[in-house]
Amino acid sequence: MNYRFWCGECGFKTTWGAESVAGRQHADHYTARHPGLPLGGQVESGTAGPAAGGGLGCAGMAVVIVLLLIIAAACVR
Ligand SMILES: [Zn+2]
Repeated sequence: MNYRFWCGECGFKTTWGAESVAGRQHADHYTARHPGLPLGGQVESGTAGPAAGGGLGCAGMAVVIVLLLIIAAACVR
């Protein structure tokens, strides 16, 4: 499960990641942009993001590379 924190003060969203990582980004954002304000906004959780979709993404990339190699080989002949 990945998490993304939304800032309650502006449109900032952290990147998708582990809750601890995204939570730290959220806290860092508040420290930098909204000093003195309590942490607000909302937490989005789900299976989206690069970590969860990495398997399918890598497989799709491999297929594209193989297709390019086939096309390149066909052009050489
Ligand atoms: Zn903000």
